[in-house]
Amino acid sequence: MSRRIVLATGNAGKVRELGALLAQLDIEIIPQSEFDIPEADETGLTFVENAIIKARNAAAHTGLPAIADDSGLEVDCLKGAPGIYSARYAGVNSNSQDNVKKLLTEMKDVPDTERTARFQCLLVFMEHDEDPTPLICQGSWEGRILHEQRGEGGFGYDPVFYVPTHDCASAELMPETKNQLSHRGQALKKLVATMKII
Ligand code: IMP
Repeated sequence: MSRRIVLATGNAGKVRELGALLAQLDIEIIPQSEFDIPEADETGLTFVENAIIKARNAAAHTGLPAIADDSGLEVDCLKGAPGIYSARYAGVNSNSQDNVKKLLTEMKDVPDTERTARFQCLLVFMEHDEDPTPLICQGSWEGRILHEQRGEGGFGYDPVFYVPTHDCASAELMPETKNQLSHRGQALKKLVATMKII
């Protein structure tokens, strides 16, 4: 019987991308939404802390091993903002459109050469909620912030994240291509490689 692991996120975009990438492992990935789990408060000051908080919360409420993703966008001219606050950049109840619009407004006078940015992703795997040695894997993806939104795919900041290697917005990439290139894809490749040998 395959192992059951809970995916500690309510973000549909992350569930889609992580689910596709984890399909290669002989494990059953169950999104946290299938359980009655209260949202964890992301009180950490780093991606690592927040990923551990989310994985521990899901493991504690399900009794299953858990994988959590904490990720975000770092913009150089904004001194790394929105960073760990990417999901709530325009306020606690903000959605992706609010966040993207705020980012474009903040950066409206910034020239192309100063619009460098990257996505960061921290993935954590915990065997149980008291696991003292969580597996921690990181990935990052370099790009630039566009002046306006492009494309319909992906989620979050994808419509304004320019991918220089493919000369398009991340939201214009095929899902498989985004998974190959992205911060999440890179972090997950490392996690899968480690999980295969443990
Ligand atoms: P959190 O990890 O739940 O704190 O939220 C991460 C936030 O970063 C998301 O809500 C998105 O706004 C943004 N983000 C993370 N990964 C991506 C991505 O692959 N594309 C676009 N936005 C992303």
